Amino acid sequence: MKTVGDVVIVGAGIVGAACARALASEGLKVTVVDASMIGGGATAAGMGHIVVIDDDPAEFALTHYSQQLWHELAAELPADCEHDPFGTLWVAADDEELAAARTKADALRSRGVFGELLDAKQLAEAELQLRPGLAGGLVVPGDSVVYPPCAARWMIEEAQRHGARLHLDTRVVSLDGESVQLADGTRLSAGAIINATGAAAARLTPGLPIRARKGHLAITDRYPGFIRHQLIELGYVKNAHGTATESVAFNVQPRHTGQLLIGSSRQFDVESGDIEAGILRKMLQRAFDYLPGLRRLNVVRTWTGFRATTPDNRPLIGPWPELPGLYLATGHEGLGITTSLGTAALIADQLLNRPSRIPCEPYLPARLLEGGKHE
Ligand SMILES: Cc1cc2nc3c(=O)[nH]c(=O)nc-3n(C[C@H](O)[C@H](O)[C@H](O)COP(=O)(O)OP(=O)(O)OC[C@H]3O[C@@H](n4cnc5c(N)ncnc54)[C@H](O)[C@@H]3O)c2cc1C
Repeated sequence: MKTVGDVVIVGAGIVGAACARALASEGLKVTVVDASMIGGGATAAGMGHIVVIDDDPAEFALTHYSQQLWHELAAELPADCEHDPFGTLWVAADDEELAAARTKADALRSRGVFGELLDAKQLAEAELQLRPGLAGGLVVPGDSVVYPPCAARWMIEEAQRHGARLHLDTRVVSLDGESVQLADGTRLSAGAIINATGAAAARLTPGLPIRARKGHLAITDRYPGFIRHQLIELGYVKNAHGTATESVAFNVQPRHTGQLLIGSSRQFDVESGDIEAGILRKMLQRAFDYLPGLRRLNVVRTWTGFRATTPDNRPLIGPWPELPGLYLATGHEGLGITTSLGTAALIADQLLNRPSRIPCEPYLPARLLEGGKHE
């Protein structure tokens, strides 16, 4: 048994990386262990949209808090993190969706987030490539975009600058609240262990009701200025919170490079990470419906990744009561890039036993045990 200090973080995705940075900069002795590389899991697959979501009060609190933390960090992020303030444009296809956009604008405004409603003409002027006949939209200028693998790498480097140790290509085969066992038999012990292994979290903490949800993305060649905002259909969140076995939604992001990142799909109960032509076709068709000119552009790469979902669509952030000393930082579904910073701040507050800027209760893993153990 090797004692390595205060905290062992398992997982160097953006959530583990953010936790490492937050804890090491507080002076804690941190060790990060990952089975492969920094930001190589869902973090490499994600779109990097930093977005405030208002559908659920707890989701709003964590996304809004996290977005503020991203804003505070913006000046420090290196250029390759490609943090761009593109804003989100929620697109309303018909009058019913425009009414929903109005309700969303009011809800955001009442919580201090600015959003500008657009009518059909203003929408067409704001984004020339959208198909004619759409009803309007809502621009949320405070939202932004980041390149997640580089952001995760930078966070780990920041943690290392504060003394953190990093073990890549090192698989953890089991853990409890005091130690982790590596594949080569070494056991690392610390005051606290954090399971930040994303969609794989239940393999190390059996009983966690985490379900992997596959997503496809496609990226085009460089077409600078083709769109100016991250464009999303208003039904996107309903889709993300839904339990359908398979769904697609219009969600297209302009990248710093001029490329367009085209999403997104959601599939439960698929283990293989292979590209599936059928769902990819549906996803691209949905994007073509909104942006007909996309058909003429070259897609240069497609890939998939797995989101970690929980039964109530809220992440698991905090102590796991079944194993004292073990903390969970997982279950972020399609918002883990956005909420990585808020997650890390909450974990740091809990480990350092101090109050947080937002209530931590909605995300505490203990809620899973209140209604009986999940198998
Ligand atoms: C298609 C798609 C689009 C997305 N778009 C967005 C978006 O626009 N905005 C947003 O906010 N979020 C988005 N997300 C969600 C976001 O990508 C994830 O929530 C986030 O990356 C989760 O980060 P993580 O660190 O928890 O997990 P991961 O990035 O998966 O990292 C987990 C790490 O744990 C390691 N690991 C696993 N098992 C072990 C083990 N036994 N031992 C050691 N290490 C282990 C893995 O190697 C991996 O590096 C998207 C996700 C997908 C799939």
